[in-house]
Amino acid sequence: MERYESMDDYFKEGDLKVKEYENKPIQTIKKVLVKTTCDICKEEIKEHSTYYNIDISHSDWGDNSHESIKSKDVCSDECLSKIFQEYLEFKSETKKINIEKEELINKDW
Ligand SMILES: [Zn+2]
Repeated sequence: MERYESMDDYFKEGDLKVKEYENKPIQTIKKVLVKTTCDICKEEIKEHSTYYNIDISHSDWGDNSHESIKSKDVCSDECLSKIFQEYLEFKSETKKINIEKEELINKDW
């Protein structure tokens, strides 16, 4: 049985004996969002512009509230007022709307 100066040496030595490492290029495929379109006017929302990220849902009895969530991307105040009108006309006992204004970042690499 070998003696080691410290636990660190013990683990370092152990790793070298059982595992060999080499640098190899790897290719990965990643699903990346490249284009976001306004749900109202169908115009593309350009990267780094601000837009509205909207979730509309309800929790009426008998419905699966997870399935009731509708997510919308909206480009401008004009389109937001149209979607808010749709929300007001939406017939439901309970309804929720969550509006977040944020910067659009498509590419996350
Ligand atoms: Zn729009």
